[in-house]
Amino acid sequence: MRGTVLYAPRDIRVEERTKPTIQAPTDAIIRISAACVCGSDLWPYRGIEPIQGPTPMGHEYAGVVEETGSDVRNIKAGDFVVGSFMASDNTCPICQAGYQSRCVHVEYVGAGGAQAEYLRVPLADGTLVATPGRPDEDLIPSLLAASDVLGTGWFGAVAAEAGSGKTVAVVGDGAVGLLAVLAARQLGAERIIAMSRHEPRQKLASEFGATDIVTERGDEGVAKIKELTGGLGAHSVIEAVGTQESMMQAIRSTRPGGHVGYVGWAHGVELPGQELFYAEVHVLGGPAPVRRFLPELLGLIWNREIDPGRVFDLELPLDQAAEGYRAMDERRAIKSLLRPSGTPSRLTR
Ligand SMILES: [Zn+2]
Repeated sequence: MRGTVLYAPRDIRVEERTKPTIQAPTDAIIRISAACVCGSDLWPYRGIEPIQGPTPMGHEYAGVVEETGSDVRNIKAGDFVVGSFMASDNTCPICQAGYQSRCVHVEYVGAGGAQAEYLRVPLADGTLVATPGRPDEDLIPSLLAASDVLGTGWFGAVAAEAGSGKTVAVVGDGAVGLLAVLAARQLGAERIIAMSRHEPRQKLASEFGATDIVTERGDEGVAKIKELTGGLGAHSVIEAVGTQESMMQAIRSTRPGGHVGYVGWAHGVELPGQELFYAEVHVLGGPAPVRRFLPELLGLIWNREIDPGRVFDLELPLDQAAEGYRAMDERRAIKSLLRPSGTPSRLTR
């Protein structure tokens, strides 16, 4: 089968790889309908996150179950499924509490590389959620988004306790930040401030429900949030970048007693204890327990109440994955969708 492999910084190749097989009775093999490039894939792509030799890439997936292990009960061959990038049993005490991304049996699904024709998903019963039937073609990008970016943006908004009557600020205008805006809107936030200096992303943020756009960043961005909130700061701030600057911008933009939900993959972030002490804010983040939200999110997508697939502004056949990475690295694309079936490349928006 064809699949992407990262060899070195900015050296991503699509090559012939071994088709995965059932290794444990709880596994499923799925044929990928659509995969994509994650903002987090850019960390190793840029050489900031080291890799140990050639690494299969991709951890976001939607597709059709081809085969299941003998212990799999909840899904069957032919089902269209979406799952999280973290496999979970969905039964242990941590899963039951809603933190499936830290399941006691957690496995990283992306280890097999989802930017490929086929993917092995461990703990299939706990990890995968089937749609009510075969989705219309135009729903597939949104279903794929639920696998990570939407689920992650949603967790950011829930962790930040975005909701009715709240003013929410979102730091980061990548796909996760934009979908955190959508999540905050769905959760009933009164005012949603998107922090972005890129016109196409500002536009999409507004369409997803942002009421205000702030172009300043760092201390100036914090000052702007304070100015818009009567000097108090936002009730809820979602951090969707993962750098020291974005994290401090999020904490400093939050009012005392408010909540920070941080879902950017933290790299080199160190929190100053004394500042955090006096900030008096709630801080919750980590790899999103996407599985917690999947049933609800798939329902909203299936009923066409939300359209998160709009974050994909570049669609390419899998064989052109390298261009999908380049376009995101250079911020020419918000998010690249990859089709293993190899449909012709086109701009979706
Ligand atoms: Zn578990």
